[in-house]
Amino acid sequence: MSDSYQEAARIIRSARRCVAFTGAGISVESGIPPFRGEKGLWNQYDPETFDIRYFHSHTKASWEVIREIFYDLFGKVVPNPAHYALAELEAKGRLGSVITQNVDNLHYDAGSRTVHEFHGSLKKLVCLGCRAKYMISEIDLTRLPPECEACGKVLKPDVIFSGKPFPSLPGQIPLMKLKMPTASS
Ligand SMILES: [Zn+2]
Repeated sequence: MSDSYQEAARIIRSARRCVAFTGAGISVESGIPPFRGEKGLWNQYDPETFDIRYFHSHTKASWEVIREIFYDLFGKVVPNPAHYALAELEAKGRLGSVITQNVDNLHYDAGSRTVHEFHGSLKKLVCLGCRAKYMISEIDLTRLPPECEACGKVLKPDVIFSGKPFPSLPGQIPLMKLKMPTASS
C-alpha cells in the first residue's frame, strides 16, 4: 500500500468526524466525462447550453442537448469502487456524510445515505411555474420540453445552471476539500 493510502487511513481512523467532499473526478471511472479538460464535455458541447438565459430563450434546443448528455449518457452509468468505498465507510460509522457537486446520483446508487448534492440532482425536475418537483422516472422525455402536469409550464432539471448564483449554505460552513487518491496512484 502506498504512503498516501496509509496516511489517508490514519487520518480517517483518528478523526472524530469525517466528511467526504467529491467532484467530477470520482465519477470519471464510471464513464462520466468531466466538463473541463481535453476529453471534457465542453470540448464537444457549447457551455452556453447550460446557461440559464439560453435555457429560457431556447428551451427546446437546450433540452435536446440536456437529454442527450444527462439522460441518454449519464442514465447508463453505475457507481465505481470509490463510490462504494464511501458508502461502506458511512455504513461502518466512519463517515458522517458526502458533500458533492456531482448531479449524477451515483453516491445514492452506491448506497450512501447522507448525501448533500449542492448542485442539485438530475433525478429531479422542477417546474419553472409552480416549483412542483418531479422524479425523472415519472416524466416522458420523448416529447420536449417536458411540461408540468399541474400548471403546464416547462420543467427544468433541478440542478444549478451557470449564470445563476449558488444558494448560500446554512451558517456558511467552510468546506474542506478531501483529495481522494486516484486508482492509478
Ligand atoms: Zn407547475
